[in-house]
Amino acid sequence: MDKAVKTSVGETLNFVGGEYRKSSSGKTFDNINPIDGSVASIVHEADATDVDAAVTAANEALNGEWGQMPLAKRLELVAAVADEINRRFDEFLEAEVADTGKPVSLASHIDIPRGAANFQIFADTMKNHHGEFYNSPTPDGTGAINYTSERPKGVIAVVCPWNLPLLLMTWKVGPALACGNTVVVKPSEETPQTASLLGEVMNIVGIPKGVYNVVNGFGPNSTGEFLVKHPNVDAITFTGETVTGEAIMQNAAVGMRDVSFELGGKNSSIVFADCDMNKAIEGTVRSVFANCGQVCLNTEKVFVERLIYDDFVARLKTEVEKMKPGLPGDDGTDMGPLVSQEHRKKVLSYYEAAVKEGATVVTGGGIPDMPDDLKDGSWIEPTIWTGLADDASPIIDEIFGPCCHIRPFDTEVEAIKLANDSKYGLACSIWTENLSRAHRVGPQMDVGLCWINCWFLRDLRTPFGGAKQSGIGREGGEYSLEFYLETSNVCVKL
Ligand code: NAD
Repeated sequence: MDKAVKTSVGETLNFVGGEYRKSSSGKTFDNINPIDGSVASIVHEADATDVDAAVTAANEALNGEWGQMPLAKRLELVAAVADEINRRFDEFLEAEVADTGKPVSLASHIDIPRGAANFQIFADTMKNHHGEFYNSPTPDGTGAINYTSERPKGVIAVVCPWNLPLLLMTWKVGPALACGNTVVVKPSEETPQTASLLGEVMNIVGIPKGVYNVVNGFGPNSTGEFLVKHPNVDAITFTGETVTGEAIMQNAAVGMRDVSFELGGKNSSIVFADCDMNKAIEGTVRSVFANCGQVCLNTEKVFVERLIYDDFVARLKTEVEKMKPGLPGDDGTDMGPLVSQEHRKKVLSYYEAAVKEGATVVTGGGIPDMPDDLKDGSWIEPTIWTGLADDASPIIDEIFGPCCHIRPFDTEVEAIKLANDSKYGLACSIWTENLSRAHRVGPQMDVGLCWINCWFLRDLRTPFGGAKQSGIGREGGEYSLEFYLETSNVCVKL
Protein backbone atom coordinates (compact mmCIF):
# COMPACT_ATOMS: atom_id res chain seq x y z
CA MET A 1 0.00 0.00 0.00
CA ASP A 2 1.22 3.47 -0.87
CA LYS A 3 1.59 5.97 1.89
CA ALA A 4 -0.87 8.85 1.64
CA VAL A 5 0.55 12.06 0.24
CA LYS A 6 -0.50 14.97 2.44
CA THR A 7 -1.57 18.31 1.09
CA SER A 8 0.11 21.30 2.71
CA VAL A 9 -2.09 22.97 5.28
CA GLY A 10 -4.48 25.43 3.69
CA GLU A 11 -3.55 24.49 0.13
CA THR A 12 -5.69 22.57 -2.33
CA LEU A 13 -3.41 20.91 -4.85
CA ASN A 14 -4.08 19.06 -8.06
CA PHE A 15 -3.80 15.27 -7.89
CA VAL A 16 -2.13 13.77 -10.96
CA GLY A 17 -0.79 10.26 -11.38
CA GLY A 18 -1.13 9.57 -7.64
CA GLU A 19 0.82 12.69 -6.59
CA TYR A 20 -0.19 16.09 -5.27
CA ARG A 21 1.09 18.84 -7.56
CA LYS A 22 1.10 22.63 -7.66
CA SER A 23 0.01 24.17 -10.94
CA SER A 24 2.80 24.46 -13.49
CA SER A 25 1.92 28.12 -14.08
CA GLY A 26 2.14 28.94 -10.35
CA LYS A 27 -1.39 30.42 -10.50
CA THR A 28 -3.59 30.12 -7.41
CA PHE A 29 -6.96 31.43 -6.28
CA ASP A 30 -8.73 31.74 -2.94
CA ASN A 31 -11.42 29.28 -1.90
CA ILE A 32 -13.75 31.34 0.28
CA ASN A 33 -15.67 30.03 3.31
CA PRO A 34 -19.23 31.36 2.84
CA ILE A 35 -19.88 31.45 6.60
CA ASP A 36 -17.68 34.47 7.24
CA GLY A 37 -15.81 35.29 4.03
CA SER A 38 -12.50 33.90 5.32
CA VAL A 39 -10.11 31.94 3.08
CA ALA A 40 -10.79 28.20 3.46
CA SER A 41 -7.85 27.20 1.24
CA ILE A 42 -5.55 28.40 -1.51
CA VAL A 43 -6.26 26.47 -4.69
CA HIS A 44 -3.70 25.67 -7.39
CA GLU A 45 -5.25 26.38 -10.77
CA ALA A 46 -4.46 23.72 -13.38
CA ASP A 47 -3.58 25.09 -16.82
CA ALA A 48 -3.62 23.24 -20.15
CA THR A 49 -0.26 21.57 -19.37
CA ASP A 50 -1.54 20.25 -16.03
CA VAL A 51 -4.76 19.01 -17.63
CA ASP A 52 -2.76 17.25 -20.32
CA ALA A 53 -0.60 15.58 -17.63
CA ALA A 54 -3.75 14.37 -15.84
CA VAL A 55 -5.33 12.98 -19.02
CA THR A 56 -2.02 11.31 -19.94
CA ALA A 57 -1.77 9.73 -16.47
CA ALA A 58 -5.35 8.49 -16.81
CA ASN A 59 -4.59 6.95 -20.21
CA GLU A 60 -1.45 5.27 -18.92
CA ALA A 61 -3.37 3.78 -15.98
CA LEU A 62 -5.97 2.43 -18.38
CA ASN A 63 -3.27 0.64 -20.33
CA GLY A 64 -1.39 -0.45 -17.21
CA GLU A 65 -2.14 -2.37 -14.00
CA TRP A 66 -5.70 -1.06 -13.68
CA GLY A 67 -6.65 -2.20 -17.17
CA GLN A 68 -5.30 -5.70 -16.47
CA MET A 69 -6.74 -6.04 -12.97
CA PRO A 70 -9.25 -8.90 -12.46
CA LEU A 71 -12.80 -7.67 -11.83
CA ALA A 72 -12.97 -9.10 -8.29
CA LYS A 73 -9.80 -7.26 -7.24
CA ARG A 74 -10.96 -4.02 -8.85
CA LEU A 75 -14.30 -4.13 -7.04
CA GLU A 76 -12.58 -4.97 -3.76
CA LEU A 77 -10.53 -1.76 -4.13
CA VAL A 78 -13.59 0.32 -5.09
CA ALA A 79 -15.47 -0.94 -2.02
CA ALA A 80 -12.39 -0.21 0.12
CA VAL A 81 -12.65 3.46 -0.93
CA ALA A 82 -16.06 3.58 0.79
CA ASP A 83 -14.60 2.12 4.00
CA GLU A 84 -11.69 4.56 4.00
CA ILE A 85 -13.96 7.60 3.49
CA ASN A 86 -16.02 6.39 6.46
CA ARG A 87 -12.85 5.91 8.53
CA ARG A 88 -11.86 9.52 7.77
CA PHE A 89 -15.43 10.79 8.04
CA ASP A 90 -14.56 13.82 10.18
CA GLU A 91 -11.86 15.09 7.80
CA PHE A 92 -14.27 14.93 4.86
CA LEU A 93 -16.97 16.56 6.96
CA GLU A 94 -14.70 19.41 7.99
CA ALA A 95 -13.56 20.06 4.42
CA GLU A 96 -17.10 19.95 3.01
CA VAL A 97 -18.49 22.25 5.67
CA ALA A 98 -15.64 24.76 5.22
CA ASP A 99 -16.27 24.89 1.46
CA THR A 100 -20.07 25.03 1.51
CA GLY A 101 -21.04 26.43 4.94
CA LYS A 102 -23.83 23.83 5.19
CA PRO A 103 -24.97 22.64 8.63
CA VAL A 104 -22.96 19.73 10.07
CA SER A 105 -26.27 17.93 10.71
CA LEU A 106 -26.96 17.95 6.95
CA ALA A 107 -23.46 17.12 5.69
CA SER A 108 -23.03 14.32 8.23
CA HIS A 109 -26.36 12.73 7.25
CA ILE A 110 -26.27 13.22 3.50
CA ASP A 111 -23.06 14.43 1.86
CA ILE A 112 -20.37 12.29 3.49
CA PRO A 113 -22.23 8.99 4.06
CA ARG A 114 -23.65 9.12 0.52
CA GLY A 115 -20.21 10.03 -0.82
CA ALA A 116 -18.90 6.79 0.69
CA ALA A 117 -21.97 4.71 -0.24
CA ASN A 118 -21.53 5.62 -3.90
CA PHE A 119 -18.42 3.41 -4.04
CA GLN A 120 -20.02 0.47 -2.22
CA ILE A 121 -23.26 0.51 -4.22
CA PHE A 122 -21.51 0.52 -7.60
CA ALA A 123 -19.03 -2.18 -6.53
CA ASP A 124 -22.12 -4.29 -5.68
CA THR A 125 -23.97 -3.34 -8.87
CA MET A 126 -21.01 -4.28 -11.05
CA LYS A 127 -20.52 -7.56 -9.17
CA ASN A 128 -24.07 -8.57 -10.07
CA HIS A 129 -24.01 -7.15 -13.60
CA HIS A 130 -24.29 -9.57 -16.50
CA GLY A 131 -24.55 -9.42 -20.26
CA GLU A 132 -27.16 -10.80 -22.65
CA PHE A 133 -27.20 -14.02 -24.67
CA TYR A 134 -29.41 -15.05 -27.61
CA ASN A 135 -29.79 -18.29 -29.52
CA SER A 136 -30.53 -16.95 -33.01
CA PRO A 137 -32.06 -18.81 -35.94
CA THR A 138 -30.26 -18.57 -39.34
CA PRO A 139 -31.64 -19.22 -42.87
CA ASP A 140 -29.47 -22.36 -43.30
CA GLY A 141 -30.78 -23.83 -40.09
CA THR A 142 -27.44 -24.15 -38.25
CA GLY A 143 -28.12 -21.14 -36.02
CA ALA A 144 -25.91 -18.59 -34.34
CA ILE A 145 -25.25 -17.40 -30.85
CA ASN A 146 -25.09 -13.73 -29.92
CA TYR A 147 -23.75 -12.35 -26.69
CA THR A 148 -22.80 -8.94 -25.39
CA SER A 149 -19.28 -8.07 -24.36
CA GLU A 150 -18.47 -4.97 -22.32
CA ARG A 151 -15.36 -2.98 -21.68
CA PRO A 152 -14.63 0.36 -19.98
CA LYS A 153 -15.26 3.44 -22.07
CA GLY A 154 -11.82 4.89 -21.30
CA VAL A 155 -10.81 8.21 -19.75
CA ILE A 156 -13.84 9.98 -18.30
CA ALA A 157 -13.90 13.73 -17.61
CA VAL A 158 -16.00 14.36 -14.48
CA VAL A 159 -17.10 18.02 -14.21
CA CYS A 160 -18.86 18.84 -10.93
CA PRO A 161 -20.96 21.58 -9.28
CA TRP A 162 -20.66 23.04 -5.78
CA ASN A 163 -23.96 22.20 -4.12
CA LEU A 164 -23.25 18.58 -3.04
CA PRO A 165 -19.55 18.38 -3.91
CA LEU A 166 -18.47 14.96 -2.64
CA LEU A 167 -21.83 13.27 -3.15
CA LEU A 168 -22.30 14.30 -6.79
CA MET A 169 -18.65 13.71 -7.70
CA THR A 170 -18.56 10.17 -6.26
CA TRP A 171 -21.96 9.43 -7.85
CA LYS A 172 -19.93 9.55 -11.10
CA VAL A 173 -16.48 8.37 -9.97
CA GLY A 174 -17.92 5.29 -8.13
CA PRO A 175 -19.51 3.69 -11.21
CA ALA A 176 -16.75 4.92 -13.55
CA LEU A 177 -14.11 3.09 -11.50
CA ALA A 178 -16.30 0.02 -10.87
CA CYS A 179 -16.60 -0.29 -14.67
CA GLY A 180 -12.81 -0.08 -15.06
CA ASN A 181 -12.49 3.45 -16.43
CA THR A 182 -10.05 6.10 -15.24
CA VAL A 183 -11.16 9.63 -14.38
CA VAL A 184 -10.02 13.23 -14.40
CA VAL A 185 -12.22 15.20 -12.00
CA LYS A 186 -12.77 18.95 -12.26
CA PRO A 187 -14.43 19.99 -8.98
CA SER A 188 -16.24 23.29 -8.73
CA GLU A 189 -13.89 26.21 -8.08
CA GLU A 190 -16.14 27.02 -5.09
CA THR A 191 -15.75 23.63 -3.36
CA PRO A 192 -12.50 21.87 -4.28
CA GLN A 193 -11.34 20.33 -1.01
CA THR A 194 -13.08 16.96 -0.77
CA ALA A 195 -12.10 15.92 -4.32
CA SER A 196 -8.49 16.64 -3.44
CA LEU A 197 -8.75 14.77 -0.13
CA LEU A 198 -10.14 11.75 -1.96
CA GLY A 199 -6.74 11.41 -3.65
CA GLU A 200 -5.25 10.41 -0.28
CA VAL A 201 -7.93 7.76 0.10
CA MET A 202 -7.17 6.36 -3.35
CA ASN A 203 -3.48 6.05 -2.49
CA ILE A 204 -4.13 4.47 0.91
CA VAL A 205 -6.44 1.75 -0.41
CA GLY A 206 -4.08 1.00 -3.31
CA ILE A 207 -5.99 2.27 -6.34
CA PRO A 208 -3.19 2.39 -8.96
CA LYS A 209 -1.68 5.77 -9.78
CA GLY A 210 -3.40 7.66 -12.55
CA VAL A 211 -6.82 6.01 -12.10
CA TYR A 212 -8.15 9.01 -10.14
CA ASN A 213 -6.91 12.50 -11.02
CA VAL A 214 -8.09 15.95 -9.95
CA VAL A 215 -7.50 19.25 -11.72
CA ASN A 216 -8.67 22.47 -10.07
CA GLY A 217 -9.76 25.68 -11.71
CA PHE A 218 -12.59 27.51 -13.40
CA GLY A 219 -14.83 26.70 -16.39
CA PRO A 220 -14.63 28.77 -19.59
CA ASN A 221 -11.06 29.43 -20.87
CA SER A 222 -9.78 27.54 -17.86
CA THR A 223 -9.37 24.03 -16.49
CA GLY A 224 -12.93 22.83 -17.23
CA GLU A 225 -12.79 23.86 -20.88
CA PHE A 226 -9.24 22.51 -21.33
CA LEU A 227 -10.42 19.18 -19.94
CA VAL A 228 -13.56 18.71 -22.02
CA LYS A 229 -11.68 19.80 -25.17
CA HIS A 230 -8.84 17.34 -24.58
CA PRO A 231 -8.83 14.86 -27.50
CA ASN A 232 -7.82 11.91 -25.28
CA VAL A 233 -10.89 12.23 -23.08
CA ASP A 234 -13.31 9.52 -24.22
CA ALA A 235 -16.54 10.64 -22.51
CA ILE A 236 -17.78 13.52 -20.35
CA THR A 237 -20.09 13.37 -17.38
CA PHE A 238 -21.29 16.72 -16.09
CA THR A 239 -23.59 18.09 -13.41
CA GLY A 240 -24.32 21.79 -13.43
CA GLU A 241 -26.25 24.53 -15.20
CA THR A 242 -28.01 23.89 -18.49
CA VAL A 243 -26.09 26.68 -20.29
CA THR A 244 -22.80 25.10 -19.19
CA GLY A 245 -24.07 21.77 -20.50
CA GLU A 246 -24.68 23.40 -23.89
CA ALA A 247 -21.11 24.74 -23.98
CA ILE A 248 -19.67 21.35 -22.98
CA MET A 249 -21.81 19.55 -25.54
CA GLN A 250 -20.38 21.68 -28.34
CA ASN A 251 -16.89 20.63 -27.31
CA ALA A 252 -17.97 16.99 -26.87
CA ALA A 253 -19.21 17.00 -30.46
CA VAL A 254 -15.61 17.25 -31.64
CA GLY A 255 -14.48 13.63 -31.75
CA MET A 256 -18.08 12.47 -31.11
CA ARG A 257 -17.58 11.94 -27.35
CA ASP A 258 -20.47 10.56 -25.30
CA VAL A 259 -22.06 12.78 -22.62
CA SER A 260 -24.10 12.22 -19.47
CA PHE A 261 -25.69 15.44 -18.20
CA GLU A 262 -27.52 16.30 -14.98
CA LEU A 263 -28.63 19.90 -15.46
CA GLY A 264 -30.79 22.64 -14.00
CA GLY A 265 -34.36 22.36 -12.76
CA LYS A 266 -37.44 24.38 -11.85
CA ASN A 267 -39.28 21.87 -9.77
CA SER A 268 -42.92 21.91 -8.68
CA SER A 269 -44.93 20.47 -5.83
CA ILE A 270 -48.64 19.83 -6.20
CA VAL A 271 -50.54 19.80 -2.92
CA PHE A 272 -54.05 18.38 -3.23
CA ALA A 273 -56.77 19.10 -0.67
CA ASP A 274 -56.86 15.38 0.15
CA CYS A 275 -53.24 15.41 1.37
CA ASP A 276 -52.08 14.79 4.91
CA MET A 277 -51.41 18.45 5.71
CA ASN A 278 -48.76 17.79 8.35
CA LYS A 279 -46.77 15.61 5.97
CA ALA A 280 -47.20 18.09 3.12
CA ILE A 281 -45.97 21.03 5.21
CA GLU A 282 -43.01 19.13 6.63
CA GLY A 283 -42.10 17.79 3.19
CA THR A 284 -42.43 21.20 1.54
CA VAL A 285 -40.19 22.83 4.15
CA ARG A 286 -37.52 20.25 3.28
CA SER A 287 -38.07 20.32 -0.48
CA VAL A 288 -37.85 24.12 -0.70
CA PHE A 289 -35.28 25.03 1.93
CA ALA A 290 -32.90 22.06 2.39
CA ASN A 291 -29.27 23.07 1.76
CA CYS A 292 -30.44 26.71 1.61
CA GLY A 293 -32.39 25.91 -1.57
CA GLN A 294 -29.26 24.71 -3.36
CA VAL A 295 -30.27 21.19 -4.36
CA CYS A 296 -31.12 20.66 -8.03
CA LEU A 297 -34.24 18.81 -6.81
CA ASN A 298 -35.50 21.66 -4.60
CA THR A 299 -39.05 22.86 -5.16
CA GLU A 300 -39.43 26.50 -6.28
CA LYS A 301 -43.10 26.39 -7.39
CA VAL A 302 -45.82 25.10 -5.07
CA PHE A 303 -49.34 24.60 -6.44
CA VAL A 304 -51.99 24.19 -3.73
CA GLU A 305 -55.66 23.26 -4.22
CA ARG A 306 -57.76 26.34 -3.48
CA LEU A 307 -59.75 24.69 -0.68
CA ILE A 308 -56.66 24.50 1.54
CA TYR A 309 -54.61 27.31 -0.01
CA ASP A 310 -54.91 29.97 2.74
CA ASP A 311 -54.29 27.45 5.49
CA PHE A 312 -51.24 26.01 3.65
CA VAL A 313 -49.67 29.45 3.08
CA ALA A 314 -50.17 30.40 6.74
CA ARG A 315 -48.72 27.13 8.04
CA LEU A 316 -45.70 27.18 5.73
CA LYS A 317 -44.99 30.78 6.77
CA THR A 318 -45.09 29.77 10.45
CA GLU A 319 -42.63 26.89 9.89
CA VAL A 320 -40.26 28.97 7.76
CA GLU A 321 -40.14 31.76 10.32
CA LYS A 322 -38.85 29.22 12.86
CA MET A 323 -35.78 28.43 10.69
CA LYS A 324 -32.51 29.59 12.21
CA PRO A 325 -29.43 30.50 10.16
CA GLY A 326 -26.20 29.93 12.05
CA LEU A 327 -22.82 28.28 12.43
CA PRO A 328 -22.66 24.79 10.89
CA GLY A 329 -21.88 23.02 14.17
CA ASP A 330 -24.35 24.87 16.42
CA ASP A 331 -27.34 22.96 17.78
CA GLY A 332 -30.47 24.36 16.28
CA THR A 333 -28.89 25.69 13.06
CA ASP A 334 -31.39 24.92 10.31
CA MET A 335 -29.78 26.85 7.49
CA GLY A 336 -26.33 27.68 6.22
CA PRO A 337 -25.47 30.56 3.90
CA LEU A 338 -25.55 30.48 0.10
CA VAL A 339 -22.32 29.17 -1.41
CA SER A 340 -20.84 32.56 -2.36
CA GLN A 341 -21.40 36.31 -2.49
CA GLU A 342 -21.75 36.02 -6.25
CA HIS A 343 -24.52 33.45 -5.95
CA ARG A 344 -26.22 35.61 -3.31
CA LYS A 345 -26.22 38.52 -5.77
CA LYS A 346 -28.02 36.32 -8.29
CA VAL A 347 -30.61 35.08 -5.76
CA LEU A 348 -31.20 38.62 -4.42
CA SER A 349 -31.76 39.84 -7.98
CA TYR A 350 -34.74 37.43 -8.12
CA TYR A 351 -35.94 38.63 -4.71
CA GLU A 352 -36.02 42.16 -6.19
CA ALA A 353 -37.57 40.99 -9.46
CA ALA A 354 -40.35 39.20 -7.58
CA VAL A 355 -41.36 42.44 -5.85
CA LYS A 356 -41.10 44.46 -9.07
CA GLU A 357 -43.21 41.90 -10.90
CA GLY A 358 -46.00 42.15 -8.31
CA ALA A 359 -45.37 39.44 -5.71
CA THR A 360 -46.74 39.57 -2.20
CA VAL A 361 -43.81 38.72 0.08
CA VAL A 362 -45.28 36.31 2.64
CA THR A 363 -42.01 36.10 4.53
CA GLY A 364 -38.29 36.89 4.04
CA GLY A 365 -37.06 38.70 0.96
CA GLY A 366 -33.71 40.00 2.15
CA ILE A 367 -30.55 39.43 4.17
CA PRO A 368 -30.89 38.32 7.82
CA ASP A 369 -29.26 40.29 10.59
CA MET A 370 -26.24 38.19 11.58
CA PRO A 371 -23.69 38.68 14.41
CA ASP A 372 -20.66 40.83 13.56
CA ASP A 373 -18.25 37.90 13.02
CA LEU A 374 -20.59 36.39 10.39
CA LYS A 375 -21.51 39.62 8.58
CA ASP A 376 -19.18 38.83 5.66
CA GLY A 377 -20.89 35.49 5.03
CA SER A 378 -23.39 35.06 2.20
CA TRP A 379 -26.49 34.72 4.39
CA ILE A 380 -29.97 35.08 2.98
CA GLU A 381 -33.53 34.91 4.27
CA PRO A 382 -35.80 32.01 3.39
CA THR A 383 -38.55 33.55 1.31
CA ILE A 384 -42.13 32.80 0.26
CA TRP A 385 -44.09 34.70 -2.39
CA THR A 386 -47.65 34.61 -3.64
CA GLY A 387 -49.44 36.53 -6.38
CA LEU A 388 -46.98 36.30 -9.27
CA ALA A 389 -48.17 35.82 -12.86
CA ASP A 390 -47.34 32.49 -14.50
CA ASP A 391 -44.83 34.18 -16.81
CA ALA A 392 -42.96 36.22 -14.13
CA SER A 393 -39.21 35.67 -14.14
CA PRO A 394 -39.05 34.05 -10.65
CA ILE A 395 -41.61 31.52 -11.91
CA ILE A 396 -39.77 30.70 -15.15
CA ASP A 397 -36.07 30.75 -14.17
CA GLU A 398 -34.13 28.45 -11.87
CA ILE A 399 -33.16 30.61 -8.86
CA PHE A 400 -31.31 27.98 -6.79
CA GLY A 401 -32.02 29.71 -3.49
CA PRO A 402 -34.26 29.20 -0.43
CA CYS A 403 -37.48 30.50 -1.93
CA CYS A 404 -40.78 29.41 -3.43
CA HIS A 405 -43.94 30.84 -4.94
CA ILE A 406 -47.29 29.41 -3.88
CA ARG A 407 -50.20 29.52 -6.35
CA PRO A 408 -53.72 28.14 -6.00
CA PHE A 409 -55.38 25.74 -8.48
CA ASP A 410 -58.88 24.34 -8.88
CA THR A 411 -58.62 21.09 -10.84
CA GLU A 412 -56.23 18.18 -11.21
CA VAL A 413 -55.85 18.82 -14.94
CA GLU A 414 -54.95 22.46 -14.30
CA ALA A 415 -52.35 21.51 -11.68
CA ILE A 416 -50.63 19.02 -13.99
CA LYS A 417 -50.56 21.58 -16.81
CA LEU A 418 -49.10 24.31 -14.56
CA ALA A 419 -46.42 22.04 -13.14
CA ASN A 420 -45.40 20.71 -16.57
CA ASP A 421 -45.25 24.20 -18.10
CA SER A 422 -41.44 24.55 -17.91
CA LYS A 423 -38.43 24.10 -20.14
CA TYR A 424 -36.99 22.00 -17.31
CA GLY A 425 -38.12 18.53 -16.26
CA LEU A 426 -36.10 17.30 -13.34
CA ALA A 427 -38.32 16.48 -10.36
CA CYS A 428 -41.68 17.04 -8.69
CA SER A 429 -43.53 16.09 -5.52
CA ILE A 430 -47.23 15.25 -5.30
CA TRP A 431 -49.04 15.37 -1.97
CA THR A 432 -52.29 13.35 -1.82
CA GLU A 433 -53.74 10.51 0.27
CA ASN A 434 -55.88 9.39 -2.68
CA LEU A 435 -54.17 6.31 -4.10
CA SER A 436 -55.89 6.46 -7.49
CA ARG A 437 -55.02 10.12 -7.90
CA ALA A 438 -51.39 9.46 -6.96
CA HIS A 439 -51.01 6.78 -9.63
CA ARG A 440 -52.99 8.79 -12.18
CA VAL A 441 -51.02 12.01 -11.76
CA GLY A 442 -47.50 10.62 -11.13
CA PRO A 443 -46.91 9.16 -14.62
CA GLN A 444 -48.27 12.34 -16.28
CA MET A 445 -45.52 14.50 -14.81
CA ASP A 446 -43.00 15.49 -17.47
CA VAL A 447 -39.97 14.93 -15.21
CA GLY A 448 -37.29 12.34 -14.54
CA LEU A 449 -38.19 11.94 -10.85
CA CYS A 450 -41.68 12.06 -9.36
CA TRP A 451 -42.06 11.70 -5.61
CA ILE A 452 -45.44 11.00 -4.03
CA ASN A 453 -45.81 12.07 -0.39
CA CYS A 454 -42.04 12.46 -0.06
CA TRP A 455 -39.05 14.29 -1.50
CA PHE A 456 -35.45 13.22 -2.23
CA LEU A 457 -36.13 9.67 -1.04
CA ARG A 458 -33.56 7.70 -3.04
CA ASP A 459 -32.90 4.06 -3.74
CA LEU A 460 -29.56 4.23 -5.54
CA ARG A 461 -30.54 1.43 -7.93
CA THR A 462 -33.34 3.51 -9.48
CA PRO A 463 -32.95 5.87 -12.48
CA PHE A 464 -31.94 9.44 -11.65
CA GLY A 465 -31.93 12.24 -14.21
CA GLY A 466 -33.91 14.93 -15.94
CA ALA A 467 -36.30 15.28 -18.88
CA LYS A 468 -36.31 18.25 -21.32
CA GLN A 469 -33.51 20.75 -20.52
CA SER A 470 -32.73 19.07 -17.18
CA GLY A 471 -30.40 16.47 -18.57
CA ILE A 472 -29.31 13.75 -20.94
CA GLY A 473 -29.22 10.14 -19.78
CA ARG A 474 -29.92 8.52 -16.43
CA GLU A 475 -27.63 7.66 -13.53
CA GLY A 476 -28.15 5.07 -10.77
CA GLY A 477 -27.62 1.29 -10.57
CA GLU A 478 -27.56 -0.36 -14.00
CA TYR A 479 -28.40 3.00 -15.67
CA SER A 480 -24.97 4.33 -14.73
CA LEU A 481 -23.29 1.23 -16.12
CA GLU A 482 -24.87 1.92 -19.53
CA PHE A 483 -22.84 5.12 -19.73
CA TYR A 484 -19.56 3.89 -18.28
CA LEU A 485 -19.37 0.66 -20.31
CA GLU A 486 -18.92 0.25 -24.06
CA THR A 487 -21.08 -2.66 -25.23
CA SER A 488 -20.28 -4.85 -28.26
CA ASN A 489 -22.27 -7.69 -29.75
CA VAL A 490 -20.34 -10.87 -30.54
CA CYS A 491 -22.11 -13.07 -33.12
CA VAL A 492 -20.89 -16.66 -33.67
CA LYS A 493 -22.27 -18.65 -36.60
CA LEU A 494 -22.63 -22.29 -35.58
P1 NAD B 1 -22.03 25.46 -13.32
O1 NAD B 1 -22.61 24.93 -14.60
O2 NAD B 1 -21.80 26.90 -13.20
O3 NAD B 1 -20.62 24.78 -13.03
C1 NAD B 1 -20.48 23.38 -12.91
C2 NAD B 1 -19.06 22.98 -13.26
O4 NAD B 1 -18.81 23.24 -14.64
C3 NAD B 1 -17.99 23.76 -12.48
O5 NAD B 1 -16.98 22.85 -12.12
C4 NAD B 1 -17.50 24.76 -13.51
O6 NAD B 1 -16.19 25.21 -13.29
C5 NAD B 1 -17.59 23.95 -14.79
N1 NAD B 1 -17.69 24.73 -16.03
C6 NAD B 1 -18.28 25.93 -16.21
N2 NAD B 1 -18.19 26.29 -17.51
C7 NAD B 1 -17.53 25.30 -18.16
C8 NAD B 1 -17.12 25.10 -19.52
N3 NAD B 1 -17.40 25.98 -20.47
N4 NAD B 1 -16.46 23.96 -19.83
C9 NAD B 1 -16.20 23.03 -18.88
N5 NAD B 1 -16.54 23.19 -17.58
C10 NAD B 1 -17.21 24.29 -17.22
O7 NAD B 1 -23.00 24.92 -12.17
P2 NAD B 1 -22.91 25.25 -10.61
O8 NAD B 1 -23.28 26.68 -10.43
O9 NAD B 1 -21.66 24.73 -10.06
O10 NAD B 1 -24.09 24.32 -10.04
C11 NAD B 1 -25.43 24.73 -9.95
C12 NAD B 1 -26.23 24.16 -11.10
O11 NAD B 1 -26.09 22.74 -11.12
C13 NAD B 1 -27.71 24.43 -11.00
O12 NAD B 1 -28.21 24.76 -12.27
C14 NAD B 1 -28.29 23.07 -10.58
O13 NAD B 1 -29.63 22.83 -10.93
C15 NAD B 1 -27.37 22.15 -11.29
N6 NAD B 1 -27.38 20.83 -10.65
C16 NAD B 1 -28.04 19.80 -11.26
C17 NAD B 1 -28.10 18.55 -10.67
C18 NAD B 1 -28.84 17.41 -11.31
O14 NAD B 1 -28.69 16.28 -10.85
N7 NAD B 1 -29.63 17.64 -12.34
C19 NAD B 1 -27.45 18.34 -9.44
C20 NAD B 1 -26.79 19.43 -8.84
C21 NAD B 1 -26.75 20.66 -9.46
